[in-house]
Amino acid sequence: MTGRIIDGKAISEQIRRQIKSDTDRLIERGCRPGLAVVLVGDNQASRTYVTNKKKASLAAGMKSELIELPSEVSQQALLNTVDRLNRDPSIHGILVQLPLPPHIDESAVIQAISPKKDVDGFHPENVGKMIIGQDSFISCTPAGIMELLKQAGVGIAGKHAVILGRSNIVGKPMGQLLLQQDATVTYCHSKTENLETFTRQADILIAAIGQAKFITADHVKQGAVVIDVGMNRDEHGKRCGDVDFDSVREKASAITPVPGGVGPMTVTMLLKNTLKSATQTCSNYISTNG
Ligand code: NDP
Repeated sequence: MTGRIIDGKAISEQIRRQIKSDTDRLIERGCRPGLAVVLVGDNQASRTYVTNKKKASLAAGMKSELIELPSEVSQQALLNTVDRLNRDPSIHGILVQLPLPPHIDESAVIQAISPKKDVDGFHPENVGKMIIGQDSFISCTPAGIMELLKQAGVGIAGKHAVILGRSNIVGKPMGQLLLQQDATVTYCHSKTENLETFTRQADILIAAIGQAKFITADHVKQGAVVIDVGMNRDEHGKRCGDVDFDSVREKASAITPVPGGVGPMTVTMLLKNTLKSATQTCSNYISTNG
């Protein structure tokens, strides 16, 4: 069996066209969605992600504000920036690019972002609402993966989903979203013993560990759907995921590539969340002011 490729780039382009047209309609009603991205320090990978997010939001017709702060910025100065953005009516989404320098308390910064503008879905209020199934902003990478599975026609109910990785931004919310759609969910992490006994049971395998080509054909059941979240470099410096794509594809029924799988969907969900925030704020504004 050679698994079909789930083309995240193509799916994401289609969704971005819809986001652009919804954004245009909102602009006609006098409200332009605005996304602010805060970058602290000069981490090269973070700068690339931030640049992509800025380009994508501008291409969707949104206002985009990039705030760059030096790595030695104080926590208070960063919190003041967040506070200013919370109060800025032209900004509907705020994203503070992680990781932050060690002297800054990441969770204090995340909690300072207004839950109504938390388009990354990291604020505890949004995380809590997501877990109990209430409307909230959902972390972009897991939200993007759910959309990929839907667009690819992958059935979830009753399936065994195995998640590798338990980070707050990918692994944990991923499992909760699959559980809400009636999957049976297993979480694996660095302390999991006999990892392969779990991964080989997976109908849907999600790899989010950050280890280049870690998942090989031996880890995978025949016919599994394999989603690769990892963004790594291989021994030749080439971008690759957590999955050894060529060998695993021979066993999988469907698989996402890296690049061109989960990555573009993450940015697309950020735009979708920003549009959602703007739509909610602007509807309130329009209904109050005619
Ligand atoms: P973290 O480093 O925060 O978490 C990694 C998780 O993987 C941890 O839970 C860790 O376990 C687990 N883990 C590490 N090694 C192993 C192993 N050998 N076996 C089983 N579990 C293991 O990473 P993130 O969740 O932030 O990101 C994961 C990957 O996804 C990275 O490559 C990142 O670059 C990529 N990423 C891609 C995005 C995209 O848009 N495509 C967006 C976000 C991330 P433990 O908890 O025990 O330490």
